[in-house]
Amino acid sequence: MSDQPEKRLVLDLSGAVRALLDSPPEGMSDAALATLAQAMQMVDAGLPTHLYHAAVEQSQVAISITDTDANILYVNPAFTRVTGYSGADIVGQNESLLSDRTTPVAVYKELWGALLRQQPWNGVLVNRRKNGTRYLAELIVAPVIDGEGRTTHYLGMHRDVTAMHRLEQDVRNKKRLIESAVNVTPLPIVLLDSDQNVVLDNLAYKTLRSDMEGEEPAQVFIRKLESVLGKGNYGDSRAFEDVEVDWDPGGGKPVRWFACSGTWFRECDSEVDTFFNKRSSDYLLLAAKEITELRRRQEEVRWSAMRALIAEEERAQTMRETIAAAIYQLKGPFNLLNAIKGMAERRHGDGNEFMNTLWSVLTQVSVSGQEALATLEAALPRESREPLVAVNLNVIIRDVLAISTERLIAAGILVDWRPAPKIPTLMGYENRLRGMLKQLLDNSIDAMSGRAVRERELTIATGVDGDHVSIAIEDTGPGIDEDLRLKVFEPFFTTKGATGHAGMGLVLVQEVINQHSGTVSIDSGEKGGCRMSLTIPLASPGQRDVRQALRR
Ligand code: FAD
Repeated sequence: MSDQPEKRLVLDLSGAVRALLDSPPEGMSDAALATLAQAMQMVDAGLPTHLYHAAVEQSQVAISITDTDANILYVNPAFTRVTGYSGADIVGQNESLLSDRTTPVAVYKELWGALLRQQPWNGVLVNRRKNGTRYLAELIVAPVIDGEGRTTHYLGMHRDVTAMHRLEQDVRNKKRLIESAVNVTPLPIVLLDSDQNVVLDNLAYKTLRSDMEGEEPAQVFIRKLESVLGKGNYGDSRAFEDVEVDWDPGGGKPVRWFACSGTWFRECDSEVDTFFNKRSSDYLLLAAKEITELRRRQEEVRWSAMRALIAEEERAQTMRETIAAAIYQLKGPFNLLNAIKGMAERRHGDGNEFMNTLWSVLTQVSVSGQEALATLEAALPRESREPLVAVNLNVIIRDVLAISTERLIAAGILVDWRPAPKIPTLMGYENRLRGMLKQLLDNSIDAMSGRAVRERELTIATGVDGDHVSIAIEDTGPGIDEDLRLKVFEPFFTTKGATGHAGMGLVLVQEVINQHSGTVSIDSGEKGGCRMSLTIPLASPGQRDVRQALRR
């Protein structure tokens, strides 16, 4: 080319490139844009045209310049490296020589459509090298427009993106493989980013989400995990396994249980601005295995063990009451007998044969009576020794309600259970507290089982009042007259008549409450039945003993 047309072509080419830089086609790579911008800087700097020519010659991008029929006029050395065609091979040939003939015609139509509108075009084509091997060419074509607005040439730039495509495809395939493996897993699995957004989930998780009616399962589990593991422990990038959390669907539906396991992993940020300044993000892979059925079976086993324990306690208590009642009954006549024996003893020795015989008979009766009382006292079942443990009264009441469900249903009693949302644990004797609450529940059920009682409602509420926990058990039975509200705590006092009750139930309640330094009182409640109000301090009986000893 002579210097003048070459200069003109450079100017026209720079116009084409500038237009391309002003509105780069969508998807045009950053590398290509940078190369073009660099070339433009040279032109703008007014550098001589041979320098511009040298820059194009030495560019790492395959560059070709064609006439308006795509007949090649010029190719740079990078073009030869990529395609295998030297300038001598290809100048004068059409660009279509590069086509592998597997690129759909629609792509070429799009390319030519853009060029005819004097617009640049960017896309990927399948090309064939001189040696017949195929490669993927990321191509940018742009029209070269002269001063009169006519297209005079086309500029083509392309690079081999086969390796990158293979890599992308590999990543995509691996992602698909992982996704399908995760998808067929029957376990709900979800991947969360550091803002707890769902990045990936599987079918089982999606099903769970629709079960939860709009609630995001991961959010529910994380809230629970934070409260089970403690906010400090959850989220510190340590894995956790089979942490059991519950989800209450509300509306009277049964609570569901899940065993959650989680693994954290760190991903390096792929954003350009973090190329030199590394940044990473944490992800949590969370799996939640539903264990509701297992928990239900475990609970049933626990409740039947509890039922057996309570039944055993009740049996021992009944025996205790019966024997205590026998001892109590025997002690009256026995005291009378001892008094007569004392009288006979005072007359003993004044020669009265009858008195002597009476005294010796009474002495024998007294001795065998003492022995009988001692035998009865020895037969009193001992109270089992129980350790002090951390007790959650809400859990105990829930257990007692579960154990009593059949009786409550049989008696047609409506239960209104109002647990305090957050109740602190207290140190107590778990079995005794459970037995005591079962006793109070049984009393209420008995009271409401009378024919005269139409509305049968049992309200149980717990609350926290400073350093005390309160429990209120209110029924809609006939209630307890005001003048009897203290008497009912006396041994062998019963309002139940001849029903086989020895009247020791509330004595037991009082005893357990005393063991926990609490209080118990009775009033008529809001519905005119009987309301038992209990308070139990949060400090353990052991701690109180130490404090009391220190005070002394
Ligand atoms: P063609 O008949 O060449 O073209 C297919 C369709 O394109 C036709 O239906 C027709 O409507 C349209 N078309 C073709 N030529 C023109 C024209 N001059 N004006 C208007 N419409 C036209 N192709 C590749 O496969 N690989 C490349 O690397 C490549 N680089 C190119 C670089 C430049 C600068 C240009 C201008 C084109 C390039 N092409 C490239 C496109 C190439 O010119 C062919 O269009 C393409 O290879 C298809 O060839 P073909 O013989 O199958 O069909």
